[in-house]
Amino acid sequence: MTSKKRKHIEKHETGEQGDKSGKPQREQSRKAKKHYSQIIFRDWCKKCGICSAFCPKNVIGQNEEGGPVFERPEDCIGCRFCELHCPDFAITIQESDNDSGRGK
Ligand code: SF4
Ligand code: SF4
Repeated sequence: MTSKKRKHIEKHETGEQGDKSGKPQREQSRKAKKHYSQIIFRDWCKKCGICSAFCPKNVIGQNEEGGPVFERPEDCIGCRFCELHCPDFAITIQESDNDSGRGK
């Protein structure tokens, strides 16, 4: 961990999309739902656009300055390409199996 300050942090909660496969409900419920949150440390981000370029699900777009914008957070599959390729460790993906409090 670096000594950089964490002044401006954003957390984007996400959820898995509904199953459109037509599988039986019992089979769907056996799978643990995984949810992902994208956390961005704005003070560390140099707006290079790498995270946006590497995201395979087009979750991350860019604002006018080139900084990341989470346009489709519900589509995040937790691959962590964005986290792994960020040169400034400015983006983190968190996984949670807890489905409570969602969909309300
Ligand atoms: S974890 Fe993968 S799908 Fe999710 S925002 Fe990062 S690159 Fe995109
Ligand atoms: S890869 Fe890292 S530094 Fe570059 S825009 Fe994304 S979060 Fe910012």
